[in-house]
Amino acid sequence: MDNIKQGGEFDFIRYIKTQAPTNADIPLSIGDDTCILPSCEKESLVSTDMLLENIHFRQSHASPELIGHKTATANLSDIAAMGGKAKYFLLSLALPKKLKETWKELFIKGLVNALNEFDVTLVGGDTSASPDKIFINGIILGESVGKPVKRSGAKAGDFIYVSGYPGEAAAAIDVLEKHSSGVMVHQKILKLAQEKHYKRQAELRLGAEISKRTLATSMIDLSDGLVGDISHLTLDFGLGANIWEENIPVSPHFDSFVQVEQKEEMMLNGGEDYQLIFTSRLNIDSREFAEIQKMGVRCIGQVSNTEKIILKKKNGEKVELKNKSFDHFA
Ligand code: ADP
Ligand code: MG
Repeated sequence: MDNIKQGGEFDFIRYIKTQAPTNADIPLSIGDDTCILPSCEKESLVSTDMLLENIHFRQSHASPELIGHKTATANLSDIAAMGGKAKYFLLSLALPKKLKETWKELFIKGLVNALNEFDVTLVGGDTSASPDKIFINGIILGESVGKPVKRSGAKAGDFIYVSGYPGEAAAAIDVLEKHSSGVMVHQKILKLAQEKHYKRQAELRLGAEISKRTLATSMIDLSDGLVGDISHLTLDFGLGANIWEENIPVSPHFDSFVQVEQKEEMMLNGGEDYQLIFTSRLNIDSREFAEIQKMGVRCIGQVSNTEKIILKKKNGEKVELKNKSFDHFA
């Protein structure tokens, strides 16, 4: 009933198999009832992430390759947030019958290329028809590098660090939404926005470096927005945070993407950056930080025990920030 069938589903799975190179370490990959994976000596890290058409992506925003890339990054980023190494990926798809063969193939290309960058192998999945929209679900398997870095563990006084430019992905999708609704956008800006939203890189190298050196007391990937994700490391455990506005790195692309007045909102509450936020007892000038400073990490505040997130603005004013991260059920 739910199969794409008749040369559809099975040809597509055969195509996926040709695009998903395996290696001698994997006893059995795509094609059987399950894959067989070598057992790992370290702790296994397992997560899953869903991407639904018109909620997490739109066909009108970007090429199928870029949507494949985002699928990989969203899943890889959870392993990065534990400081782990990503290893295997499973992909479940529900696709409308009318979806073009080339869309499917390019999606797989974009996904597999993004996985290849981190030596992650596509080892299985499931394929079904969908009545109307595209549903994508990924399962990512990895292993710990050092000790996995959990969301819990921060203490008052710890410094708060962030990689990349918070809000950049949200500012980029703002451009793509405008374009999809018929607003004229310059071709160059459109291309940049597609790259900055859909072609983000999971911070696996940074995460592993942090874990290996035991630098962090807690860590999360930036997917709900700066305030939302800092809340997950602090408010969720009866702590708070003081954030210093002047230290928050400002994306060089904001001016191309959004109005000046929108910048702060994007920086504080824009999601899907897939960067890392972590807390550490260590000061940014400590010797242990030398390597990861080069990877673009900035200290933006400190953990407090007030159960509030306070932003110290550039003019010295202090404001309490409310968590406005996107709630699917709100
Ligand atoms: P089953 O009927 O046992 O679920 P399938 O015909 O769905 O088997 O799948 C056959 C093989 O193809 C399995 O190894 C499965 O993991 C793989 N596979 C199916 N869909 C996908 C997909 N979207 N991506 C990767 N592998 C897939
Ligand atoms: Mg199946």
